[in-house]
Amino acid sequence: MADLTLTGGCYCGNVRYTITEPALDTHHCHCGICRKFHGALFVTLSIFNRAAFRYDKGEQNLGSFASSPNVTRHFCKTCGCPVTLDLTQLPDKIAVATGTIDEGAHPGHPEGTYRHAFVGSKVPWYEIADRLRQCEGFDA
Ligand SMILES: [Zn+2]
Ligand SMILES: [Zn+2]
Repeated sequence: MADLTLTGGCYCGNVRYTITEPALDTHHCHCGICRKFHGALFVTLSIFNRAAFRYDKGEQNLGSFASSPNVTRHFCKTCGCPVTLDLTQLPDKIAVATGTIDEGAHPGHPEGTYRHAFVGSKVPWYEIADRLRQCEGFDA
């Protein structure tokens, strides 16, 4: 893995993390659960090896919500910011809300993984105007 250190955290700073490997995957998720949970038309998520991710502070300040049988979402109990997601089907990975990475740093994913996911759930009045791959599901 290339050398990379990313830091990030929630809006208020009570939850902080460090990541020591590039993301394996970054996608814009248009699913209806992400839309509501984040209050945004779509949400950018990056998936990392869990072994390369650590909470520096505030893990005990995370609230958790199982939004589906396979996804548990973690948010700062102070500011409400969604920070990470656990994916039951990928226990050795962690998904991070990409926008919580400090300074808008690039998460380091391979270009080919960068895509729109669950485009069938996209709000009809938002038009995707970039050239990224558009997937009906998570990755196809
Ligand atoms: Zn916070
Ligand atoms: Zn989603």
